[in-house]
Amino acid sequence: MPFRELNRQQIWMLPPTLDELIPNDHPARFIAAFVDSLDKSFWDKLGIGIDGEPLGAPAYHPRALLGVWLYGFMTSTRSSRKLETACRDQIPYLWLTGWQRPDHNTLWRFYKEHRKNMRHLFKLTVRTAVKLDLVDLAVQAIDGTKIAGNASRDRTYDRKGLKRLLERTDKAINELEQDNNAGNDAFFVHLPEKLRKAKYLRNQVKEALDQLADKDGQKRINLTDNDAVFMKSRQGIVTGYNMESVASPLKTNKTKTSGMLLTGLNVVSEQDDHYQLIPMLKQSEEMTGKLVEITLADAGYHSGANPAICEQRKQMIIMPESQEQRLKSPYHKDNFIYNSHTDCYGCPKNQSLRYMETRTIANKEVRVYGGLSAVCRKCPAFGKCTKNRYRGREILIGQHDEELRRHRTRMLTEKAKIIYKRRKEIIEPAFGIIKEQMGVRRFLLRGLDNVKNEAETLATAFNLRTLCTIFNSGAFEKRRLLIVSMSEIGIIVRNLFVFLCISRNINKMKGFSFIPTTLFESY
Ligand code: SF4
Repeated sequence: MPFRELNRQQIWMLPPTLDELIPNDHPARFIAAFVDSLDKSFWDKLGIGIDGEPLGAPAYHPRALLGVWLYGFMTSTRSSRKLETACRDQIPYLWLTGWQRPDHNTLWRFYKEHRKNMRHLFKLTVRTAVKLDLVDLAVQAIDGTKIAGNASRDRTYDRKGLKRLLERTDKAINELEQDNNAGNDAFFVHLPEKLRKAKYLRNQVKEALDQLADKDGQKRINLTDNDAVFMKSRQGIVTGYNMESVASPLKTNKTKTSGMLLTGLNVVSEQDDHYQLIPMLKQSEEMTGKLVEITLADAGYHSGANPAICEQRKQMIIMPESQEQRLKSPYHKDNFIYNSHTDCYGCPKNQSLRYMETRTIANKEVRVYGGLSAVCRKCPAFGKCTKNRYRGREILIGQHDEELRRHRTRMLTEKAKIIYKRRKEIIEPAFGIIKEQMGVRRFLLRGLDNVKNEAETLATAFNLRTLCTIFNSGAFEKRRLLIVSMSEIGIIVRNLFVFLCISRNINKMKGFSFIPTTLFESY
């Protein structure tokens, strides 16, 4: 088989335009359409002056810089140095910047200054999808995933470890200062590097000790990122964060593709999911502007209070319990029948358990009902129902027990079991895409607030990726075909034009974007 001719020095008689090098359905075009659609009021919301300053050296256009960051997050390039390299040698980045090459400092300064306000972009993607009726807001799923922080596991210490480290550092500083003074160097104006590092470490350790003293319950702290904590993940123990997300499925009949849209996202330094359910439901309501009727959550979110609050919010929660085996026992407290006239619970063997006292357990008040120990000891169920010979069976009734019983009854229905099966298919693929395709195995920024900003930009990129897929699937086929044909006409016109114009004028021809800029409108 002959080889194709390999010629790295070939020249074009008709050089292609930059626009021609990017296919019509390329995600970079979608990002550009998104960025170009932002009106002045939205740029103000981002804290960016879109008109530029009348004086001074020309700066890079915010549309170019924002486009680079969003496209970078979408395609697993989140570091400013990698983006700088990409802006030098990757055609989609060159197209987005109009063949300009911002360096990493420029890119980083832009992101650092505006990343906090970029959360508005996340909301814009959600509101756009809702407005176009692309999302099925009848159901949503919530889950958390552990993502490593930008922190070394080996630099996590408990109080004892920090105190030992402080002693070692103090000793090292003393020795280094003695060495430094013995040198008697009159011209020595800077601290030696080792001494400077040791003093920096001492300050870090002291701050970490103060932080541990302030936070009740926190036992360890990481010196690289004080907010990152030890968490169990599927990959083992990581020092990182818990990224909570809410996702709703796409309307497949409208979008002609399956997938999901993130409608809520938060990052916390707590492994426990219990306390995240209600804040995430509120966030999803605020983002979509609608109250989603059914929420699917795993057992990690189950608590007595959560079903009760969901009931108050008129949102149905489908959520199993972590200890479902115990529920199957015929002597579970749910099988004790309450009599409101006598304020007693009837046990399965017809003993009446009366109110005894109110106890405080884990800062919550519970009502304790108990039977006669003599009756329980003689009962055939003794040993299964209770093993307490002296007090007999006691049941603890919390503030939300009634709602909890209703929730359990609902979870036993076939309908709830069928709906719950959808949880995995809605939320788990979102984490898979974020980790595997968008390359987010660890956060790059440090500190909880910064990591939250990074995650919000990630969620924006995720939603743009989903919207781009919908657009390319042909959901907007008629409009797209019309505009693509305009694009092709444009290329023909350009080829004629090139004979008449000097080549640099070609750059003035704007891309024939196939996405109408009115698709995204400010909310
Ligand atoms: S052990 Fe006591 S409370 Fe339990 S079923 Fe028997 S009599 Fe009722």
